[in-house]
Amino acid sequence: MNLNIVPLKFSNDPLLRKLTDKLSLYFDEIKIFYTPVNIEPAYNSARRQYHSTKILESIIKSNPEESGLYLILTELDLFVPVLTHVFGEAQLKGRFSIVSVCRLYEEFYTAESNPKLVLNRSFKEALHEIGHNLGLYHCRNWECIMHSSNNVEEIDTKGLFYCKECSDTLKSSGIKHPAAT
Ligand SMILES: [Zn+2]
Ligand SMILES: [Zn+2]
Repeated sequence: MNLNIVPLKFSNDPLLRKLTDKLSLYFDEIKIFYTPVNIEPAYNSARRQYHSTKILESIIKSNPEESGLYLILTELDLFVPVLTHVFGEAQLKGRFSIVSVCRLYEEFYTAESNPKLVLNRSFKEALHEIGHNLGLYHCRNWECIMHSSNNVEEIDTKGLFYCKECSDTLKSSGIKHPAAT
């Protein structure tokens, strides 16, 4: 299976490179795919955030032609109406997902920069949303990448992998090495 990473308002090239590297274990091929996505309808001026569902709708409507999954990677702050923020969103059993690194940066919370931590958080959230694309629901195992995270502490608690149960479910999904350790 192929993965197309779509940078959208994303300026951190070293992070993009390292994340692509880490995800490449799971895919036959990863392409960085630049495509225009209309973010204007997704902007909420009262919240100063972007509605993730509407960004997904915009790329789905543009009907991009590459095969495989699409992961939008952005530094925009995302929300859905019932929540203060989301780290990402994915179509369940679909091809499209989005991850925001805005609140994965340690600088969002403290004055400290920690690129390695941001890379691990981004990797976990990317693999989490990809898991939804591949049909996985949230997992009750706190260490599993499919555990739902409301804050970065919960992301940091998770491991870097799908648990045994989730990776078993992924065996026929087309993703490589779901149980990679
Ligand atoms: Zn989820
Ligand atoms: Zn699991």
